[in-house]
This record gives sequence, structure tokens and C-alpha cells, in this order.
Amino acid sequence: MNSETELPFDYHIVRSRKRRTASLMIDKGRVEVRVPALADECWIDNWVRSKVDWVLPRLQRQTRALEQRAIEISQGGRFFVNGRELALSWRRASRSGVVMADQEIQVSISARVRRPESEVVHEQLQQWMAQQAEAILVPLCLQLGREMRLVPSTVRIKNYRRKWGQCDSRGVITLNWRILHLDPALQRYILVHELCHLKEMNHSSAFWRLVSLHCPEYATLRRQLTETYPYLIW
Ligand SMILES: [Zn+2]
Repeated sequence: MNSETELPFDYHIVRSRKRRTASLMIDKGRVEVRVPALADECWIDNWVRSKVDWVLPRLQRQTRALEQRAIEISQGGRFFVNGRELALSWRRASRSGVVMADQEIQVSISARVRRPESEVVHEQLQQWMAQQAEAILVPLCLQLGREMRLVPSTVRIKNYRRKWGQCDSRGVITLNWRILHLDPALQRYILVHELCHLKEMNHSSAFWRLVSLHCPEYATLRRQLTETYPYLIW
């Protein structure tokens, strides 16, 4: 007899021959269950049910973040710069470009372009963001580094889908242009974080002490940062 109530969420099953135990992942508002190749459907269902209390709050947090921060490439859609929500629109023009005002961002598409407009707007906005990051984030990082007396050998801009930045053992700091979507306080936290890696190449307590010296509210900012993942996935 099946008296089970319906689960409050859907999940996606990934089977693997190498796997011996089950695990759960919540990614971008989606629940994924990874199980051994021959795991029984009924067993999986019961196992997921036993995890509902763990899954629900996390899933709700992710879904809410998506509702509030997903970037929407459509006419009248929304875009974020420095944590501010801007209304997106585009039009045909003699040449392509991006103009940002107080509450809106407008993309001009060259009249010659034949590809789907939303695809072109997507591409133009990503290029524009990368240029802005080059012009704004690189000098900001260098300035901050001088103030902190932690000077990188180079600061570069890149496109990452899973992280905001990185620092390597040669002192090269690489920043994700998507940082510009974030609130200025979060932007600063990421730069401080990467600059501190110039001295502490790990996440040890010494590292966090150094971070807190330059950014005392880092714990709060770090938590806020987990809710900004929609900026990473457009
Ligand atoms: Zn780090």
C-alpha cells in the first residue's frame, strides 16, 4: 500500500556505476540525487524523503535568490550592475553599443546583425561587462592592494561560471567580470579575499584573521555571497 504524500519538490536521479553511496546536491534551484547504478527507485524515494528537512530550506533559499537576482535577457527584462536592478531594453541602430542610466540599461544592435536579437544582446552585454571590469576592477584591485601592502604581480579579468576570483602562487589575481553585478561591499570583500591569498595561500585561520583585518564584516558578506549565484549562470 502506498500512503506516501507527495514530496514538496522534484528531483533528478543520476546513476553511476562507480558510486557506492547516495548523495544529494542542490544546485541552481534543482535537486540532484546521485546513486549507485542499481539503486532501487523505492529506496531512492524513501531516502530522499528522509532528507526533506535538510533539502527544503536550502532549496527555498536558492529559489528565492533566483527570483530576486536572475538576469533576464528579454525586452523589459532585468540586469544588475553594482547590485542595482536595471530594466533591460534593446533597439536597432547604426552601430552597436551599451548605455547604462540610473535605472535602465539599453543595448543598441547593429542594423546589419542577422542572428536572433536576444542572442546578440546576451553576447554584447557579456563583452561590455568584461570591458567595464577591466576598466574598473583592475585599478580598484591594485589600489586596494597598495593600501593593504599586498601587491599582486598581475590582475586579470576572466569569465568564470563557478567562482568569483582566484589567486595563484605567482601572485597573479584573476577576477571574474561578473563581480560587477554585485553590491560594492561584496565586490570589495572578494578583492580583499584574493589579495589576502598573496600572503596566505589557503583558507586557514591565519587567512581569515588577515581578511577580517581589512574587512571586519566579512562573515556576513560571505553569507550574502552565496545568494548571488544567479549572477554566475547567465
Ligand atoms: Zn579563497
